[in-house]
Amino acid sequence: MKTGYLIDMDGVIYRENQLIPGAADFVYALTATGTPFLFLTNNSAPTPEDLAVRLNHLGIHGLSARHFYTSALNTADFLSESDPGCTVFVLGEGGLLTALHERRIANDALRPRYVVVGEGAATMERLAKAHECIERGAGLLATNPDNWCPISSEKTRPGAGATAAFLEASTGRRAYYLGKPNGYMFHRARRKLAELALSQLEQVVMIGDTMETDIRGAFEADMQSFLVLSGSTRIESVGDHVYQPTRILQSVADLTEEVKTGVASDRLNSPAFGGPHRDKFGSRHQTDIFAFHLPKPRPPMTK
Ligand SMILES: [Mg+2]
Repeated sequence: MKTGYLIDMDGVIYRENQLIPGAADFVYALTATGTPFLFLTNNSAPTPEDLAVRLNHLGIHGLSARHFYTSALNTADFLSESDPGCTVFVLGEGGLLTALHERRIANDALRPRYVVVGEGAATMERLAKAHECIERGAGLLATNPDNWCPISSEKTRPGAGATAAFLEASTGRRAYYLGKPNGYMFHRARRKLAELALSQLEQVVMIGDTMETDIRGAFEADMQSFLVLSGSTRIESVGDHVYQPTRILQSVADLTEEVKTGVASDRLNSPAFGGPHRDKFGSRHQTDIFAFHLPKPRPPMTK
């Protein structure tokens, strides 16, 4: 069966500017076997080229812009498809500005059709300007709903969702949130993955570390979802959600053999850290992931 992978980045491939052990071998197994894959990130600040450079510095070489689909690209796709010729006032960084520019969506600080909120520094002055634009009738869009984003296991920063919430409070307008878990992000990504694949894909799998974005979005888009425990989610909190991943893995390292051989590992359904499904999931597969990073409980990442 031909399987394609959509792969979240932070918490799946790297954490705190360090590769997660086994992530490079996993990506090389994908490229060596010609398995279609696409990195899918809610971070709208970098361009795809920036992300390829970042992974190169971290030790994963040979990737190019076509391997990445960001919430900034998704927002630009959405606007160019739903309202071609529209104008925008942007609170965001290079990745978002570039994506909009490439789709010929013009900046407009007077009467934009939309205020677009992305990741990155938002000054009080820019927020006030955005507020005025919305008061004059502009719609409010956010590249992603993340209220906070991880910087390290101990630190987070405010995300685009928090910035959009500021404007929702000040204007009384509700924002429309693109990025994961929005279905438009997943459908667009699936389409892009199909373009990268040389043959028809029978199955698309989303690999991610966040229940509210990666796993929820995949579930709603009718895709398989593999939760990895190398990032922001603890096994104890998985049951708090009504949507559940297809599989739970320690990290992407657990998938490397399967990608190489095409044969599903019998230990892939194996979190088995206790709990009611212990017998169902089989024996525990211990790696050094938890020595590397132990996520601490945090408030929900998105609304
Ligand atoms: Mg993540």
